[in-house]
Amino acid sequence: MGAETNEMRQRLRESGLRVTRSRLGVLDILADADGPLSFTQVVERLEGADWDQATTYRTLVKLKEVGLAAVASRVEGIDRYVLAGGRSDGHQHPHFLCGACGRIACLPEEIVASISVDGPWAESIRRAVVQLLGECPDCLTQPG
Ligand SMILES: [Zn+2]
Ligand SMILES: [Zn+2]
Repeated sequence: MGAETNEMRQRLRESGLRVTRSRLGVLDILADADGPLSFTQVVERLEGADWDQATTYRTLVKLKEVGLAAVASRVEGIDRYVLAGGRSDGHQHPHFLCGACGRIACLPEEIVASISVDGPWAESIRRAVVQLLGECPDCLTQPG
């Protein structure tokens, strides 16, 4: 918090939004996350907040509208949000979704660097969202 919260306040104002606790709260959660978060995961992390889930949902949509948040992943129809702009790279790297625990992790860009072609698909492939589906290391090592 502290300096980071001040930065968030400023970014909200620059985006023409009033600074509210829910907006600051959601931005804080996204800033601390180690990967894209679904609405449900944001709600879980906001446990104890004094606003309701509908407000959290509207807040996410609003932050996305003004470009402070972005949907980095849309596996199985679930939008997963990340902080956009500022220090974030927009999560242009591939993501790994664990089908067992639902965790989504950021992977290094190099993984897809070797996927390139010439011809009509070149640009499409360069811009494609790459998602790997499988089991994360934690789930793989869990017995049973
Ligand atoms: Zn897992
Ligand atoms: Zn990412």
